[in-house]
Amino acid sequence: MTENPEMMPEMIIAATAGKVFDGGCHCGAVRFRVTGPVGKILICHCYDCMRTAGLSWAGIDVALDRFDLVKDASLKWYDSSAIAKRGFCGDCGASLFYQLHTASVIAIAPGMFDQSDQFEVAGQIYAASHPAWGPCDMTRLPHLDDMWNAPN
Ligand SMILES: [Zn+2]
Ligand SMILES: [Zn+2]
Repeated sequence: MTENPEMMPEMIIAATAGKVFDGGCHCGAVRFRVTGPVGKILICHCYDCMRTAGLSWAGIDVALDRFDLVKDASLKWYDSSAIAKRGFCGDCGASLFYQLHTASVIAIAPGMFDQSDQFEVAGQIYAASHPAWGPCDMTRLPHLDDMWNAPN
């Protein structure tokens, strides 16, 4: 994810200021609460994200003083590089958080939020390190729900 430890103004979703967003992992053992403003979604294709998430990871930055862990019984931290750690649920495996050791912000995967319709995608980084297949443009990919009968 970003090397910049602070939130850049152009990455902030102003409409989320003061709003409360709850979220958590798949099994519910990790729960968190965020008070906006939250950052725009940044999709990362780097090796570390691919290897920990199974595909490109994405996160939104939130200032640490606007982030609260409500339940963290199964939360584990893994140093995925010399500069950053990743928070995941030791029970269900959800890859929730990314944090630079020196940062005053935490990146949270948008899929962990109970409600994220107000979020926006800013863009992507490390696209050059993504495998040759792709790009994963959601507006252009064919819809295969009928074929896979995707459970929700
Ligand atoms: Zn879990
Ligand atoms: Zn990455």
